[in-house]
Amino acid sequence: MPRSFLSHLECPQCGTTYDADIIHHLCACGSPLLARYDLAAAAREVSPADVSRRAPSLWRYRELLPVRTDACEVTLGEGMTPIVPLVRAGTLHRLAHLYLKDEGLLPSGTFKARGAAVGVSRAKELGAKVLVMPTNGNAGGAWAAYAARAGLRAVVVMPELAPLITRHECAVMGSHLFLVDGLITDAGRLAGRAAAQAGWYDVSTLKEPYRIEGKKTMGYEMAEQWGWSVPDVVVYPTGGGVGLIGIYKALQEMQAMGWIGPKLPRFVAVQAAGCAPIVRAWERRAAVSELWADAATVAFGINVPKALGDFLVLKALYETDGRAIAVPDAEILAAQQELARQEGLFVCPEGAAALAAAIHLREEGWIADGDQVLLLNTGTGLKYPETVAAQPAVIPADGELPVDDIRG
Ligand SMILES: *Cc1c(COP(=O)(O)O)cnc(C)c1O
Ligand SMILES: [Zn+2]
Repeated sequence: MPRSFLSHLECPQCGTTYDADIIHHLCACGSPLLARYDLAAAAREVSPADVSRRAPSLWRYRELLPVRTDACEVTLGEGMTPIVPLVRAGTLHRLAHLYLKDEGLLPSGTFKARGAAVGVSRAKELGAKVLVMPTNGNAGGAWAAYAARAGLRAVVVMPELAPLITRHECAVMGSHLFLVDGLITDAGRLAGRAAAQAGWYDVSTLKEPYRIEGKKTMGYEMAEQWGWSVPDVVVYPTGGGVGLIGIYKALQEMQAMGWIGPKLPRFVAVQAAGCAPIVRAWERRAAVSELWADAATVAFGINVPKALGDFLVLKALYETDGRAIAVPDAEILAAQQELARQEGLFVCPEGAAALAAAIHLREEGWIADGDQVLLLNTGTGLKYPETVAAQPAVIPADGELPVDDIRG
């Protein structure tokens, strides 16, 4: 039996198909390409029970991933992140069934590790030598790590304002790092030009079809952890939207294989008020978004003024009775504090935005009392130390702690 049931690449806009074993970027029509599998054959060869007996990494879904040879699997042990019940925060906000899938535990501290693990593995399999990418930081850190592990060169271009730690990640992993005095869209232009000139493999978000295949494993895991079922609402901090598109794709694949029933969650795309192109488009019931001017937010991973896959994100929202919502930075930071104090979770601002959104949607009544709500925390707060202010008192070495001021 083959390791992967990858069959071809397909354009979700015009339906053109491409050979998956040749390097392709975008469709001739300009749309991203999606990987397709022989799902009927996969369903005959592997069952949910088989998968559940395998090692707890995202490679347990290997039949539905694009890597054909074991030797090309580049892994740091990524996958099977915990789903944590948020009982105290849930009670506080009348969300009786509130959960958080904590992607902060992955290598490099964000869910970008999923896309990088699968993307780098497939790039290696297809013979790429130099990978080039724009990033808001976290993808750069993750791809630099997996490229190092694979023995490939990575060239990373990120905005000067991207979180400092992600620079250090790229540097320590030996990638070629460049900063741009602009946004991720500017970094993308530089990376694209260099790729065309030098023949490098452009791994920009959705410009190659395999990063999304890694990210979709969040959907497989979610269903498996939910007992081969799904929650009522999935709240996702949306930048390029690859995670949301990926989770939706995974659910559709699992439905086609009979792994889950017809029920789908309502997807919520959360954006920051300072950069909310998907929300604006959703409010207008538009099929695509427009470039957001002067984008700015503390949640750097979702500071994407125009996403190549915007039409796929919007389609997922419309098809699942979902919605988009913007939350201001002040609420994001308040939610980050709350998750830390109430639940012991130091999440990234993007993940905190998901809680801020759920609170709004519950107040509005869009989330009902009995709804099971799953928040995606896309990364650890440890990568964003500048989002919290600590001003501890300094005690002289021969001094004493103010024990009378502190009660249990
Ligand atoms: C990249 C990133 C996002 C947005 O991811 P998409 O799936 O591309 O929308 C959210 N949170 C963090 C921490 C990120 O690094
Ligand atoms: Zn096309």
